Amino acid sequence: MAEKRDYYEVLGVSRDATDEDIKKAYRKLAKKYHPDLNPGDKEAEAKFKEINEAYETLSDKNKRARYDQFGHAGVDPNFGAGGGGAGFGGFGGAGFDFGDIGDIFSDIFGFGSTVRRNGPVRGSDIHLHLSISFEEAAMGCKKIIECSRVQKCTACDGTGAKKGTKPEECSYCHGTGTIKISQRTPIGMISTTRTCDHCGGTGKIIKTPCPECHGVGLVRRPRKLEVDIPAGINDGQVITLRGQGDYGRNGGPAGDLDISISVKPHPIFTRVNNDVWCEVPLTFTQAALGCEITVPTLYGKVSYTVPPGTQPGESFRLRGKGIPHLNRYGRGDQYVKINIEVPRNLTEKQKELLRQFDETTSDNKNYEKRKNFFQKLKDVMGF
Ligand SMILES: [Zn+2]
Ligand SMILES: [Zn+2]
Repeated sequence: MAEKRDYYEVLGVSRDATDEDIKKAYRKLAKKYHPDLNPGDKEAEAKFKEINEAYETLSDKNKRARYDQFGHAGVDPNFGAGGGGAGFGGFGGAGFDFGDIGDIFSDIFGFGSTVRRNGPVRGSDIHLHLSISFEEAAMGCKKIIECSRVQKCTACDGTGAKKGTKPEECSYCHGTGTIKISQRTPIGMISTTRTCDHCGGTGKIIKTPCPECHGVGLVRRPRKLEVDIPAGINDGQVITLRGQGDYGRNGGPAGDLDISISVKPHPIFTRVNNDVWCEVPLTFTQAALGCEITVPTLYGKVSYTVPPGTQPGESFRLRGKGIPHLNRYGRGDQYVKINIEVPRNLTEKQKELLRQFDETTSDNKNYEKRKNFFQKLKDVMGF
């Protein structure tokens, strides 16, 4: 979409124009570009929309103030959550007859323009992103999320007509929302139907629009929602809450709320499918002699006896200490991988003790891998 033009420029008025100036400029332009007077002229239609949008903002004291301060971002309902709440207003209330109201609001709400506008239209899906900790993903959690949503206007119960009034059947299309046009052509009569301009395809005319939703029957409102994040969810997965998106129009179903999950990395644990891995560094004395170690798990500390002669890279399994399977019974395991840290910065005395120790060992008795390695060298390579 092209860059939005400045609303004052659209109406051809100065920034200090009075309400009366704006109204006058608007009426003049609206008459000129009204779709009824320019049938089939796409450019005029686009102009007409632009003029209406500009007028909608500049004719409303609050919106005009926001626009003056923040530009389009201050009044555009699609511009992030901050600008969303007070999206639409000032429009139907002015008492004009907007033949094109359906199109304008279809733009605002993001409904496609190819659909039959008086038929049910499904609401838009809402997409959110949620970042959670490793533990929250593993164990499940409840999160309060805040997102604005198009929902039924409670003031008019979704009819769009001011409380105490009712929408009337459009007299031009008799409530069908479409008008049939028959044309005589060289190959005979051709009938086409087009959307009724008077009601915008809704089949209804709202004489007194509801002041809350300005005749749309829907309003965008912020809301808080508690979401259950199931145990076992993984990074990149999407939780879909059916029907929690924007409300549909004309009885259409609501869209969905899609929450895509990202899981923050953990300083100690890594996840492989539903197993949790962690690495524990031992001294070679611990590994050689065996030792009792404390291992962190998602379910608290666990003590484990490392057997004498444990080798670097060996891992052992803590059964059932992994991550629960998503939506089914059971959970993975935890694996503890042994790493051996070779000591650095030895003193002379320590070095001497190690040399003494080393003299007492032999490949045959103490170092199976070394023994095998040198045996192979001899056998295969002739060293
Ligand atoms: Zn309403
Ligand atoms: Zn109509």
